[in-house]
Amino acid sequence: MHGSVMSVSSGGWHRRGIWLATALIGAALLVVGLLVGPFGGVGHAATKPVTVSLTFDDSNADQVPAEQEIHSLGLHGTFYTVSGWVGQPGYLTLANLQQFAADGNEIAGHTIEHPDLPTLDPQEQMREICNDRVNLINWGFQPTDFAYPFADADTNETDAKACGYNSARGLGDVVSPGDCSGCVYAETTPPPDPYYLRAPDEVDSTWTLAQMEQEVTNAQNHSGGWVILTFHHICTPVGTTACPSDLSTTPTIFNAFVTWLAAQASKGVTVKTVQQMIGGTFKPGVYVNPPAPAAAGVNALQNPSLETIDSNTGFPQCWQAGGWGTNTVAWANTTAAHTGTNAENLTVTNYSSGDAKLLNTLDLGACTPTVVPGDTYNLSVWYESTGTTQFALYYRTTNGAWFYWTSSPYFATASTWTQATFTTPPVPAGANGMSFGLALISNGSLTTDDYSLVLPTTAAKASAPAPAGIRVIGAVSPIRIGARFHVHSHARPLIPGAGKVKPHTRFAIPEATPGPNAKSAT
Ligand SMILES: [Zn+2]
Repeated sequence: MHGSVMSVSSGGWHRRGIWLATALIGAALLVVGLLVGPFGGVGHAATKPVTVSLTFDDSNADQVPAEQEIHSLGLHGTFYTVSGWVGQPGYLTLANLQQFAADGNEIAGHTIEHPDLPTLDPQEQMREICNDRVNLINWGFQPTDFAYPFADADTNETDAKACGYNSARGLGDVVSPGDCSGCVYAETTPPPDPYYLRAPDEVDSTWTLAQMEQEVTNAQNHSGGWVILTFHHICTPVGTTACPSDLSTTPTIFNAFVTWLAAQASKGVTVKTVQQMIGGTFKPGVYVNPPAPAAAGVNALQNPSLETIDSNTGFPQCWQAGGWGTNTVAWANTTAAHTGTNAENLTVTNYSSGDAKLLNTLDLGACTPTVVPGDTYNLSVWYESTGTTQFALYYRTTNGAWFYWTSSPYFATASTWTQATFTTPPVPAGANGMSFGLALISNGSLTTDDYSLVLPTTAAKASAPAPAGIRVIGAVSPIRIGARFHVHSHARPLIPGAGKVKPHTRFAIPEATPGPNAKSAT
């Protein structure tokens, strides 16, 4: 299991794990029976060859010394990379990844933003998997293997293959400390399903050194095979935000384990990357565009009047909380709406710096409107406010990263419904999505409703050519050629704090450096 997957009631891994256990327990018993029969006891059976893969998820910065440790021992690992986190504080840098690759490690894929994939609409799932792989390719790597965030695969096995991967790793389907009793002791080679590789639970702070070693010796004492161990943080002290107990082991334990592991070579234990075990060719990247942009004159926003509430988050569907700086924000849905029966209210207290605003969910296109470089858009919202506000704008690049763009002039307080409007600058080159919100930049109360984002004039543009070796699916330009996917009007958003996604994943945009037009601390 992975991270907060325990809260994913509909997660695919658990049901799958039970199914696999049921299917395979018979085979495991059969093997034991054969061993007991001819040799008169399990203890007489010779140990079986075992291959161990050391896999590292989520691109955490504390994996750097771990990589240096295994490198010093002549071992290589597989680093499942969340490309949208690379280079952010607390995460690996591109230079780290390049060094890892130069040391002989495998750079593999783990989506752009680490969502719980089955909760997303089908196109968004493809963008998370495929475009992450394209990011890695554009960085110079040749990714051939993937790991499901939260080990939650659902129907994504076909997606992982369609994106060009040769394998995809799950978690929690191999006997683990205190878990998965009756499961297999190792993945078999070849695996029965390369798009759901069976692995023990992720290593966490409850694992002792002896238990790590037992994952290997258990496999040796049974059928042998492939033991895929998964690490997230290697850090101390465990139990802090940067070193969470459910995702961490200490450098002391990790170093002791890999030192022991390297010494097992004489006992039939080898260490290989997932790529070395799976093989297969490197396939070209597949880039999945966001939905086609709305036609000129049409409001491009989903749920613009905030009428549909997401039951998981409490926020309007396809909207999320945004904000930065030092202040306290309280959110509320209110029936005192401009139109319809719902508007969103936010109240800021203890204001020292920054802002608070409702934003179009910062995703890869399921919720945020698709925009075209060079176009300008008319933004508007109806509001009542006791404090000064301004629009804050963000854009998404084709690699899925969000950046602060610009801010509008200030809007005065308003005790009755008032419309704020702003025309954007031309969308920057390389952007294909945008998000905006009306930011409250003081103590006070702000209620908003009836947002719109409209392209006022039509200007047909040609799509930018795709980089060599990248196949592009879907069309972002107004010339709707080759659109292979339909736009889903019922896209499900990802919102921070939903319990299924790391809370910071949608707040990772650099709002803390808002640029010259935004109001600074007062
Ligand atoms: Zn992960």
